Amino acid sequence: MKNFLTVLLMMFLLTGIASAAPKIEVNRAELIQAALNAQKNSYAPYSKFNVGAAVLCASGKIYTGTNVENASYPAGLCAERTAIFHAIAEGEKQICAVAIVGGLNFTASDYCAPCGMCRQVMREFANPENLLVIMAKSPTDYVEKTLEELLPMSFGPDSLK
Ligand SMILES: [Zn+2]
Repeated sequence: MKNFLTVLLMMFLLTGIASAAPKIEVNRAELIQAALNAQKNSYAPYSKFNVGAAVLCASGKIYTGTNVENASYPAGLCAERTAIFHAIAEGEKQICAVAIVGGLNFTASDYCAPCGMCRQVMREFANPENLLVIMAKSPTDYVEKTLEELLPMSFGPDSLK
């Protein structure tokens, strides 16, 4: 009887772990539009390269960010990390999709890829095979990759266990 209960408890725990994986619908157009809206607030007086990002979290909520430059250049931060840190500050633990738009002088004429540091920060809060990175010119014109494709053989939280 004790063994039976142990097996039941293990099944319950394993099911719980499996269901913790995000199974969330990603509305690409909505996420890209949120990134485009965030881009309008970009503060990039030095590079003139304006970026907006929107992060869809496992909770279903969307958080946005924009790049914020600084007269002391290294003090600035990318739009993607601003959005992710915004989400984490609001209590989120897992991100499911990131939309990015960017270009010179508030345009989005090319697909804007995340820099290496932003890819690494995404890795901290996502399964690389599940995280969608959507690089967009408009709500209907985008390229989509998984984080695994953008950051293969990554170093993540599990690496320290
Ligand atoms: Zn970056």
